[in-house]
Amino acid sequence: MLALDAATVRFGERTALDAVDLEVADHEIVCVLGPSGSGKSTLLRVVAGLQRLDGGRVLLDGADQAAVPVHRRGLGLMFQDHQLFPHRDAGANVAFGLRMHGVSRAERDRRADELLDLVGLPGAGRRAVAALSGGEQQRVALARALAPRPKLLMLDEPLGQLDRSLRERLVVELRTLFGRLGTTVLAVTHDQGEAFALADRVVVMRDGRIAQTGTPLEVWQRPASAFVARFLGFDN
Ligand code: ATP
Ligand code: MG
Repeated sequence: MLALDAATVRFGERTALDAVDLEVADHEIVCVLGPSGSGKSTLLRVVAGLQRLDGGRVLLDGADQAAVPVHRRGLGLMFQDHQLFPHRDAGANVAFGLRMHGVSRAERDRRADELLDLVGLPGAGRRAVAALSGGEQQRVALARALAPRPKLLMLDEPLGQLDRSLRERLVVELRTLFGRLGTTVLAVTHDQGEAFALADRVVVMRDGRIAQTGTPLEVWQRPASAFVARFLGFDN
């Protein structure tokens, strides 16, 4: 589905992504972990086409994406700054992108209601986004990213502002949902518990490189370096 081939991004002296190779298979859920500044968001941004590469390639289904604009990549995106339309209601925000995809009005409304239910906001379709809490807005953004049923869904700290109990519940529901829809997911999170519960595979980043990748169990049982062990909270 997705392959990064020696993907490199520099900001002046700083190398945000340092020749990163990564493959994500169809239907796989991959969570990217790592300290602040390790290049997680940059990784998502290059896949989305929001950040230019200084070297290497991004391939989707084998096709180099260098000349493919964001809206043609078939991605669902949810970033740290989710940019909802504050004065429109939640339903309109969720349904926003679907019109472009030629989805009928009735189907747009139906899907918006279904997704708002799913993210724990049943009946919120007519509420103005500006009147929702931060965490509620985050859930609207998640529903919006899912609405076009993207083949590849990219999430940057999707549950960051939510309290722990809601996060734990949503992670389980999301895993089920992604399995049902056959969605491939590349998600960034600070929260290891969340990554380990959601992911088929985790990627741990350090200074723009991949320090380790493996199933949650592999990484948990055999951290590849002292850095990974420390990052996961082991003191060995
Ligand atoms: P966080 O967990 O804090 O969100 P991150 O792992 O997502 O961190 P990135 O946002 O990918 O980190 O940033 C990687 C590095 O690139 C950081 O050192 C950051 O300061 C730098 N960087 C990111 N975007 C820019 C930019 N537009 N201009 C200059 N430097 C940038
Ligand atoms: Mg980030």
